[in-house]
Amino acid sequence: MISEEQARARILEKISPLGKQAVPLAGALDCFAAEDYFARLPLPAFDNSAMDGYAVVASSCKKGGLLRVIGEQPAGPDRKLRVSVGEAVRIFTGATLPQGADAIVMQEDVTPHGTDIRVNVDVDAGDFVRRRGCDLAEGQMILAKGERIRASTVALLASQGLADVIVGGKATAAVISTGDELVKPGEELQSGQIYDSNSVLLNALLLRCGVSAIAVEHCPDNRQSLAEAIKRGIKNHVLVISGGVSVGEHDLVKEALCELGAKIEIWRVAVKPGKPFLFGNIAECFVFGLPGNPVSAFVTFLQFVRPAILRMMGAMNLDLPQVPAKLAVGLTNDGDRPHYIRGRLKHEKFTPIGRQESHALFGLSQANALLRVAVGQSLEADEIVNVQIWDW
Ligand code: AMP
Ligand code: MG
Repeated sequence: MISEEQARARILEKISPLGKQAVPLAGALDCFAAEDYFARLPLPAFDNSAMDGYAVVASSCKKGGLLRVIGEQPAGPDRKLRVSVGEAVRIFTGATLPQGADAIVMQEDVTPHGTDIRVNVDVDAGDFVRRRGCDLAEGQMILAKGERIRASTVALLASQGLADVIVGGKATAAVISTGDELVKPGEELQSGQIYDSNSVLLNALLLRCGVSAIAVEHCPDNRQSLAEAIKRGIKNHVLVISGGVSVGEHDLVKEALCELGAKIEIWRVAVKPGKPFLFGNIAECFVFGLPGNPVSAFVTFLQFVRPAILRMMGAMNLDLPQVPAKLAVGLTNDGDRPHYIRGRLKHEKFTPIGRQESHALFGLSQANALLRVAVGQSLEADEIVNVQIWDW
């Protein structure tokens, strides 16, 4: 049995990023940039008004004084107007600042007098003016290689006039959920059977990683059926198999993989939950065998499968987000494997929640953070610890 750190390192050294590709911005969410991007345009691109109001020469405005309105500049093409002392140009949010103007008076702060306006406030140069480049300078880095593309990232790229972005390849995945006891949700349950919850769990986790296509199937504990399902699954970049990787007579996954020529790199890792974890490959496809217990499947997915997929997709940061939290109770790990404690992180406090057993799905569903307690580690109540969160 190898350590968790060794397992992770061994997985990551096998995996290299998929080829990069250009995708339209609308399809780039949750992809990873494959190149550094720099601003081609400053933001704002030109001096403009932050308000609906009047463009003025600040030094010519006196509270209570009159200004003559000489034209109008809406957002859109620059009408090349010029404002002089004693004059104002009617202006709207986002409209280019007329020449000579250095301030905007909000329309709420003037009183119309025929073609004139009375200014009811003191005006300083720069009031409600958005200066060219004050948000973003030309040439400034806007997106680094390996960074995840978020909703605000696609907006920023669009502001630069880009229609596409070069991203890392999108991984495809298959999920095989094994077990004679499993029934598809929606169907009727016989005594001794349980509903298959790992299929949807793994599908959801893969989606969260930004995997583009996921084929999910159930397979009974039967070598022939397993072999066929595996042959279908390995057409993808990643195959995730749930259950059947332990040491029982009905755990046939490892044998089935070996019969199909798999190279098994890892079987059994010192981690709790998740000891029976398996990793290998058949030709180009990376195969992850996760224990069937839902919490084990969840934890091993996050610790081993997620970083592997992120690396394939070109991500720089493969770690789950970590946040500091005050521990609500003391915890000691007397066991021989690091233990991932499921807990609730609320108001910067981490409280273990539910049964800390690998079948305890309800407890997991109430948790939003994981605390790794190393072998022999003793943590005291109120100690500050780092916890991992997964709703990244
Ligand atoms: P296994 O890893 O196949 O030995 O399964 C370990 C435990 O997880 C058993 O209690 C199984 O019934 C349960 N289990 C296996 N697969 C699933 C699944 N897809 N959904 C929910 N529980 C499962
Ligand atoms: Mg099983």
